[in-house]
Amino acid sequence: MATNTYNKINIQSIISSLRIIFAMSFAFIFISSAKVSAISFNFDYNMDMNGFFNDQIRKDTLNKAANYYETILIDHLSAITPDGFKNNWFSEFHAPDTGMLVQQLNHPSDIMDDVIYIYVGGRPLGKTSENDFNLGLGERGGYKVPAEADQSFKDTVQARGQAGALTNPQIDVGPWGGSIAFNNDASVKWFFDPTLKEDITKDSFDFFSVALHEIAHVLGFGNAGAWNSKVVDGRFTGINTRIRYGWSVPLERTVFDSNIAFGHYSSGIIDSVYCTYDKTPQNVAMDTLFSDEIREYLTELDVAGLKDIGWQIKAKPVPEPSTIAMIIVGVAGIKLLKNRFKSK
Ligand SMILES: [Zn+2]
Repeated sequence: MATNTYNKINIQSIISSLRIIFAMSFAFIFISSAKVSAISFNFDYNMDMNGFFNDQIRKDTLNKAANYYETILIDHLSAITPDGFKNNWFSEFHAPDTGMLVQQLNHPSDIMDDVIYIYVGGRPLGKTSENDFNLGLGERGGYKVPAEADQSFKDTVQARGQAGALTNPQIDVGPWGGSIAFNNDASVKWFFDPTLKEDITKDSFDFFSVALHEIAHVLGFGNAGAWNSKVVDGRFTGINTRIRYGWSVPLERTVFDSNIAFGHYSSGIIDSVYCTYDKTPQNVAMDTLFSDEIREYLTELDVAGLKDIGWQIKAKPVPEPSTIAMIIVGVAGIKLLKNRFKSK
C-alpha cells in the first residue's frame, strides 16, 4: 500500500516533471520563434507585366535585401482585417510596371501580423542627365478608409498598432507596404547575386544595394509623417541622426514628376556599415548617388534615420562562433608567421 502510494506519487511527479519539460520546450519554441519572426516582407509580382522579375535569381536577390531588414526590425505590426461590411479600405500606390496610380479595394487582402506587402516590377524610369539613370523608385503606399468604418479599423490601417503614428506630430510609422519600380531600360546593366559573394560585373549596378535603398522608402524613410515633421530648413533633425552625425543632417532636394522632396541625405556623407564586422566606411545608402560596381549596405546613419521615424532596431548581434573562430585562426596565423620570422 505504502509502496503503491509511493509509486503513484512517483509517477505523478514524473508526469508533472514531463509537463514542466513540455512547458519549457513550448516556452523555448515560442521564444525562439518570436525572435526569428519579427517583420517579414511579402512581394507581389502581379504588376510586373514587363517581366523584370521573370528570372528567379532576381527574386532571390530581392528577398536577400528583405532578409537584411528582417534581421534588424523588431516592431510588431497589427494585421489589417477588413470585414466586408463597413470596415473596408483602399490601398493607393503607383503600379510598378506602368507608373499609373491605382486604388484597390481590400487589396492586398492578406496583410497579416508583422507582414509588409510590396508590389514590385520593372519599367523605364528615365534619366536625370545624359549619363545618369533613375535606378529605382520606392514608395510607401497610401490608403483610403470610408468614413463609416470603426475608428479602431481606421487606426489600424494608418498605424498598424504603432501608437506614435496616430499622434500629432507623428513620431512613428506603421505602413501596410507600398510599391517599388526598378528601371528596366536595356542600357541599365544590373547585377544579381543572392549570395552576395560574387564580384559585381563590370559597368553593372548592384541590384541588392538598390533594393535595400528602395525598401527603406517603403518603410517611410524620407516620406513618413515622422520624417517630414523633423525636416527643418533642408536638414533632418531626428535625435539619433543628430547624435550620429554631430549636427542635423543636410538633405538632398529632389524633384520627380514635379514633386519636390527632402527624402534623402546629401551626397558625400560617409559612415561605417551597420551590423557587420567589416566596418569599412562607405557612402550612406540613403543618399541619391550610386555608382556601378559598388555595393552599399545600410550605414549607422541610415539606421539612425530609421530609428528616428519610429522603427525599433535590434541591438547589434555578438559575433557568430564561426566569426570568432576565424578571428582566432587569423591571430594565430599572424603569430605563427612572426615566430617563424624571429626564428630565422
Ligand atoms: Zn531614394
